Amino acid sequence: MSAELDLDLGRLVGKRSAGVIAKHLGLTTVGALLNYFPRRYLDRGELTPISEVPLDEDVTLIARVVSSSTRTMKARRGTITDVVISDDDGTPGLRMVGGSDYRGKVPGTLKVSFFNGYRAKAELLQGRRALFSGKVTRYGGLLGLTNPDFLLLDEDPFVQGKDPESLALMPIPVYPATGKLTSWAIQKVVEALLQTADLDALPDPVPPAVAAREKFLPVAEAYRLIHAPESTADWQRARDRFRYQEALVLQAALARRRAQLAAEEATARRPVADGLLAAFDRQLPFTLTAGQAAIGKTLSTELAQDGPMNRLLQGEVGSGKTVVALRAMLQVVDAGGQAALLAPTEVLAAQHFESIRRTLGPLSRDGLLGGFGNAAVQVTLLTRSMSTAARKQALLDAASGTAGIVIGTHALLSDNVSFYDLGLIVVDEQHRFGVEQRDALRAKASKPPHLLVMTATPIPRTVAMTVFGDLETSVLDELPAGRAPISTHVVGLAENPGWAGRIWSRSREEIDAGHQVYVVCPKIGTDDDGDFSPGETEPTAADLEENGTARELASVTAVVEQLQQEPALAGVPLAPLHGRQDPAVKSAAMADFTANRTKLLVSTTVIEVGVDVHNATLMVILDADRFGISQLHQLRGRVGRGGHPGTCLLVTTLEPGHPSRRRLDAVASTTDGFELSQEDLKLRREGDILGASQSGGRSTLKLLRVLEHEDIIARAREDAQKIVGSDPSLQQHPQLAQAIDGYLNPEKEAFLERG
Ligand code: ADP
Ligand code: MG
Repeated sequence: MSAELDLDLGRLVGKRSAGVIAKHLGLTTVGALLNYFPRRYLDRGELTPISEVPLDEDVTLIARVVSSSTRTMKARRGTITDVVISDDDGTPGLRMVGGSDYRGKVPGTLKVSFFNGYRAKAELLQGRRALFSGKVTRYGGLLGLTNPDFLLLDEDPFVQGKDPESLALMPIPVYPATGKLTSWAIQKVVEALLQTADLDALPDPVPPAVAAREKFLPVAEAYRLIHAPESTADWQRARDRFRYQEALVLQAALARRRAQLAAEEATARRPVADGLLAAFDRQLPFTLTAGQAAIGKTLSTELAQDGPMNRLLQGEVGSGKTVVALRAMLQVVDAGGQAALLAPTEVLAAQHFESIRRTLGPLSRDGLLGGFGNAAVQVTLLTRSMSTAARKQALLDAASGTAGIVIGTHALLSDNVSFYDLGLIVVDEQHRFGVEQRDALRAKASKPPHLLVMTATPIPRTVAMTVFGDLETSVLDELPAGRAPISTHVVGLAENPGWAGRIWSRSREEIDAGHQVYVVCPKIGTDDDGDFSPGETEPTAADLEENGTARELASVTAVVEQLQQEPALAGVPLAPLHGRQDPAVKSAAMADFTANRTKLLVSTTVIEVGVDVHNATLMVILDADRFGISQLHQLRGRVGRGGHPGTCLLVTTLEPGHPSRRRLDAVASTTDGFELSQEDLKLRREGDILGASQSGGRSTLKLLRVLEHEDIIARAREDAQKIVGSDPSLQQHPQLAQAIDGYLNPEKEAFLERG
């Protein structure tokens, strides 16, 4: 890192200020504080005249102190300082821009009260001009402000000596503040830093050619203007530069990673003329879609090269990703290597195991049953819930190479799992596996294996570029022909309470017709907050809403009890499935449902991804408003798979018009996953897009908004690609390299790992 950025803050702003900043913001270096940008800027034109202050709203106003008095409270200890302020009439020189010009009008007055306001008592003396910011309350029948933030304007070093015209244009930066440390206190330290720091010594990660093309401000100027702008245009220009810079550093980090991965040497797994893959293709009961065939070709070519494949396969729910992956696995097995398939849950791993063996038919060989000898591949399941003996055997088969395809969960990552010759790793339903986990698997092969990551959540291009930027991307955008349509309905119990019973008689009809039903609940038991065990489900948009609900949400246990008493379902075999069950119980529940022994499955979102029971035709999602859009879309993709039309009922007790019902309406209105994911992202928060809710952290992106700044991200990616392409070690771009290292501090690395 640059010496200047790394300097201890205390050396430039004094020990006391630095101490306060370190204590409340955790920032200790010059660079850290310089990069602590204002969250927004107040336009002085947004100032509210006192005569117009609205009750219960946050206001910012400039006023002059008319009088001030301090008294001791009677009932408790402490003092109250009452300050009467009046509209600043513009003398000397400050007038409103944009807003109403009230010069000449009768100035309004407002009472401002401070409890134990020692600073207010000392500073808000008669005649002084100050900026106040706070919430308007009613106090003793009169409108007023209680304990507002205030800033003396006459003392502001940036205000002093400025001519009135330019002062009126000067935006007021607002920093992300904490309860203890106000924006203004931060601003003061930053101002001091701007005076003392050698801004010209700061590194510029943006190559000069790019900076010239984009007409960026020089770094020093940009830092000055983002913190102390004299006009709106100032901070906008500064922000544009830092925003692009952020995108470039991130994309360069990803490009460098791609280059490093590509430079590694992998074992080429060339297709063979008459192997398992050829036999598999001959026995396939359907024709591959054009997309499956095209992507299959790409994968085949990449597997045959001696650099590792690193590819993301995106595809709508039900688009047939598994077959694509299986064909790639067979090519690797044909070439003498092994393939591992990693699933996010045990349920899904077991499902894959069953369905892959079924799809392979005679081409799959069991450890015990023998089979077609070399003309077949052994598919092995390795999970924690297996008996010790079975597990031992599976471990042995993986290590000896007997198992050609090994399917499992995170358990495959543990140290005691080894492979004879791991050639390909397939990660299914990606968003739960990070770079670090992919690396752990990679380390299981002597040479880096090929990697295929699959995700069913349609991701906008820029999110893919940012979160999965170290992978090349393929998209499966068509569904296999003959897919039965899914009709989705919002069942609003608030307006139609009678529909509650109708749901279960509808389920009965489905079951009597020989089909099966999923019932999904947001919670496991009546005493918990939801089934948010990692790897199975994640907090939804609904959870992030502030108006937490007092209503009792449907839980798996309560619903199972209720349905056992439900006359419409009398005699129907039903069972619970959730993440807190013993793994063996879980797989048994899933197996019973798959085998059509259980007709109705009451579960949490453990069935969200990948579960493939063709006979299921109805999905009832209770308290559907508790789920996010993409989750609902994933969930309903579980029905309508076997050529029978599917139905999805989104049940909610929320009133029509409640904002959370918008999500349900969106899901009911279209089955286009891409459209939904755009809608979803609009309704969600940024941090959530990047998965911050999973790691508990906030979004580490400062100025970049993945949805809004698609063009910036795309341009930065192109630039980064060019830079890293011609200078892979970034020797010619030391400042960019430094910025990447700074970016990849442990906290930031977590960001990449979420990919
Ligand atoms: P997803 O992409 O959601 O993982 P799957 O791989 O589970 O989808 O495929 C869903 C279903 O579609 C499976 O039953 C699979 O056998 C079937 N399928 C896949 N490809 C085709 C195809 N080209 N034509 C017909 N059915 C297909
Ligand atoms: Mg799948």
